[in-house]
Amino acid sequence: PQWEKQIRASGRIRRSNGLSVLVTGAAGFVGSHVSLALRKRGDGVVGIDNFNDYYATSLKYARQDLLNSHDVFIVDGDINDSRLLKKLFEVVAFTHVMHLAAQAGVRYAMENPHSYVHSNVAGLVSLLEQCKLANPQPAVVWASSSSVYGLNEKTPFSEADRTDQPASLYAATKKAGEAITHTYNHIYGLSITGLRFFTVYGPWGRPDMAYFSFTKDIISARPITIYRGKDRVDLARDFTYIDDIVKGCVASLDTSGKSTGSGGKKRGAAPYRIFNLGNTSPVTVPTLVSILEKNLKIKAKKNVVSMPGNGDVPFTHANISLARNKLGYNPTTDLPTGLKKFVKWYLSYYGDDRGKFINQ
Ligand code: NAD
Repeated sequence: PQWEKQIRASGRIRRSNGLSVLVTGAAGFVGSHVSLALRKRGDGVVGIDNFNDYYATSLKYARQDLLNSHDVFIVDGDINDSRLLKKLFEVVAFTHVMHLAAQAGVRYAMENPHSYVHSNVAGLVSLLEQCKLANPQPAVVWASSSSVYGLNEKTPFSEADRTDQPASLYAATKKAGEAITHTYNHIYGLSITGLRFFTVYGPWGRPDMAYFSFTKDIISARPITIYRGKDRVDLARDFTYIDDIVKGCVASLDTSGKSTGSGGKKRGAAPYRIFNLGNTSPVTVPTLVSILEKNLKIKAKKNVVSMPGNGDVPFTHANISLARNKLGYNPTTDLPTGLKKFVKWYLSYYGDDRGKFINQ
């Protein structure tokens, strides 16, 4: 195939003295940032992404162009394609897999349940099968989600807290992913690290997320809908800036230990780890909106309505002690600082046409 020639010809992997990483979902928001960070420090990176149209593919192709200019090549394919994965693992001896491909978003699951099973369950198994068969086996770091804490009301959330009340099919598939990866760890000796990301935001972000769509709507003078929880309580999220998440991902790869291929019962068994990667300071949605208004210098038109019960949880808050201790994870970007960077990127990427609306 064409991609094989391109990977072999470029020496992208051979040149590297560091890790050799397969990044799934590399054209996505988090995947593109992690790929760039790894490449910039000299690791070999090959991406895979199916460029699906869950949101504007133009954004995925623009991220691909950015990665290409930094010598990161993305294979256009689906993680369910076992033959493609097999070939990819034959061409490159990956030391690590950073698995970020998934069907994200909680509300989309109401209409498209199978998409979640396809990417987050079947796709995960297909990928782990190849990791299991590879020799040597790569260490796997993958994105779970804070959504596994679901309707749990005891906050902040710690890794050992209950995760048996998912509020959406998305959350259920991430919870399933944790069980599936655990199985591959103890039966096949794969080194597994699951990262529970808390509402990641920043430049090159996902258009389906509130901070992004609010920005677009405020600039276009369209009303935004703000959900409120039970008893008119504001929803809040532990918004975490992309650069902090990237540092957590890279530290996870660096500390992930070796796959043993021998199963967890043996001595020196491969590690199975789960970490919260959050910011430890939840912010309400109305506060998020007021920060955006300040940055855009435009007042939002707001519709405040009760949460319709479509998969959102009222509140998230990460306890990150474990990641601090084991990964040296230390988020440093607060929401006003991070949103300022996001808005700057947004205006440069989409063009600054807000002059039209500034006095309305
Ligand atoms: P994203 O949608 O921008 O990136 C995912 C990428 O995976 C997309 O480019 C998509 O085309 C690709 N993809 C999806 N299914 C695929 C398949 N079957 N085969 C190949 N490629 C496929 O999402 P993101 O925000 O970058 O999220 C990355 C990971 O982090 C996901 O696993 C997501 O569930 C998880 N996560 C994200 C957040 C967040 O706030 N962004 C929070 C918690 C967890």
